[in-house]
Amino acid sequence: MRRNRNVKIVATLGPASDTYEMIKTLFEEGVDVFRLNMSHGTHSEMRDRYQMIRDIERDVGRPICILADLQGPKLRCGSFLNGKETLEVGSTFRFDLDQAEGDQNRVCLPHEEIFAALKVGSTLLINDGKLRVKVLDCGNDFANCEVMVGGEISNRKGVNVPDVILPLAALSEKDRKDLEFSCQLGVDWLALSFVQRPEDVEEARILSKGRAAILSKIEKPAAVNAFDKILAVSDGIMVARGDLGVELPVQDVPPIQKRLVTSCRDAGKPVIVATQMMESMIESPVPTRAEVSDVATAIYEGADAVMLSAESAAGSYPVEAVRTMNAVAVEVERDQTYRTGIEASRSTARSKVADAITAAAREIAETTDVKAICCFTSSGTTAILASRERPKVPIIALTSLPVVARRLGLVWGLHCVVTGEVTRFKHAVISAARAARSYEFAVDNDKIVVTAGVPFNTAGSTNIIRVASVDEKIITALES
Ligand code: PGA
Ligand code: MN
Repeated sequence: MRRNRNVKIVATLGPASDTYEMIKTLFEEGVDVFRLNMSHGTHSEMRDRYQMIRDIERDVGRPICILADLQGPKLRCGSFLNGKETLEVGSTFRFDLDQAEGDQNRVCLPHEEIFAALKVGSTLLINDGKLRVKVLDCGNDFANCEVMVGGEISNRKGVNVPDVILPLAALSEKDRKDLEFSCQLGVDWLALSFVQRPEDVEEARILSKGRAAILSKIEKPAAVNAFDKILAVSDGIMVARGDLGVELPVQDVPPIQKRLVTSCRDAGKPVIVATQMMESMIESPVPTRAEVSDVATAIYEGADAVMLSAESAAGSYPVEAVRTMNAVAVEVERDQTYRTGIEASRSTARSKVADAITAAAREIAETTDVKAICCFTSSGTTAILASRERPKVPIIALTSLPVVARRLGLVWGLHCVVTGEVTRFKHAVISAARAARSYEFAVDNDKIVVTAGVPFNTAGSTNIIRVASVDEKIITALES
């Protein structure tokens, strides 16, 4: 089982995809990373889904990457006596801490911290930004607002406060429980929602104790402004366009997406472009042309992964959504313009021996006819560097650690293989050649590039590069 593309596909699991058969089909159609969304569903549902993925992993014999997405400090208003109200433009509306059910004039906003941070003139957005109100007057427990854009407000709708840094703990009580639960399950990545500052990421890192890699979701203006610092302390990034497009004008999202993808590629950290990629496929078996174009754009930009949310979690056509995304990816990557663009935007920041080796591997692949770059990696770093080069041939990442192979599943172009313990370079070459043959990257008379670090199993030790033949006879001779 191998993919015929480099970009990875992340799919969110939910009620539409919670059986072994369905998850296995999604994997076979192209899903590389399964996302467990902690905003919806119980721990027992998450445990079941996690276990089904690990069962599939065992049954198909391929490492599979799992990402747990923490809800983060998502703000919600209280309930209404009538369930909902319609707010008229120009009217005033009050948010306060009074637990009583809301009416046409007021509702509870059970977050003291918001009132402390609001200023006259601040904007509140309600229900995915559909309603907009401006603060006229505020205190420690209330905010009187003018309705700028009216509409329906109903029970427990989300509230966004884009233009102030909220003095909120990055991780709510629920997030802390979900984080510990996810780490104990054994997820490979943790995604943090509504990150505002680098300290938010550091806090999660302390709690996760190295059990999972950490991905920061960029969905607040504060995170966009502090992006370089957030990137420096994160293992990966998600361009979370849903909330980002609520907190900022929608037209700001595409340039931010481009800038974030470029920075991540330079830094050699995986980046996911997420949300509404195939939104209409929640209800339709075919996407809009605009959606196809959106997925294609993220791939042309060189993103590591594209993501499905409700399309695979709660839609009527999860399989079709994955199949379509896969087809778009294969087609884009076949286009010469894709190759030209990827090469023109390749990162040139190199300082370590491993950088030089992975760049050399890519150059060998450009100059001669090799079928794959095979890199031995113990921490995953060398494989990520190999991916950062965006070579035109597939990269096989070989590691003796299943956790490393799983984590790398999110990274552009990496076909991850778990090997036995390798202690000599000769055995590395044999193992790489066998993997290249068995996953049909190469046949007799083909050549591969092998990189490794001697002594083996030391992180950051990559120091050898060799061009080897995958000839069955030569492998057998080496083995004896
Ligand atoms: P969510 O994050 O799906 O958890 O809201 C993604 C986004 O906001 O785009
Ligand atoms: Mn979000």
